[in-house]
Amino acid sequence: MNKHWRWVLTPLYPLLALNVLVALAYAKAWCKARSWQWRSGVLTFVATRAMIGNPGGQGWSWVVGYASDEDRDSDDLRVHENVHVWQELMFALLGLVAGVIAIAAGYAWLGVLAMFLGGPLFTLCYGLGFVAGFFRTGEFWLAYRANPFEVHAYQVQDEYLNGGRPDAWK
Ligand SMILES: [Zn+2]
Repeated sequence: MNKHWRWVLTPLYPLLALNVLVALAYAKAWCKARSWQWRSGVLTFVATRAMIGNPGGQGWSWVVGYASDEDRDSDDLRVHENVHVWQELMFALLGLVAGVIAIAAGYAWLGVLAMFLGGPLFTLCYGLGFVAGFFRTGEFWLAYRANPFEVHAYQVQDEYLNGGRPDAWK
């Protein structure tokens, strides 16, 4: 997820509407969000109450919460969270393709619905990745780190820290 890709992928943002609604409700009701800011095409906030799991950053579609201003100013943490934004955009793209195919096949309403299901499908897959990791490792932290979506995000974050991704989306 070269930073230039975000300009190509921005038109997919509306397809994550279902996740965005959940994100905004979560930010307001649970996190008591403050200091909303756009950062490189991502809507960010700072939580005044610990987010679920107490992480430094947590992405919900293209809405990303940070535990503090320092966390949000951390380039490598933003690189990590924006990998998750990119992952969700790929699922939005998947929903779009499925929707177009369904519409072309004559299932118009099903197609429109499918277009908006990429985001929820990501949430489901992320959750399944965590559950699978938990059954394998029996431990929350290890399950989190074994989740394929996290393996990907940490890999990019590490490469960025080692200078291998100077043009990362941050
Ligand atoms: Zn992560």
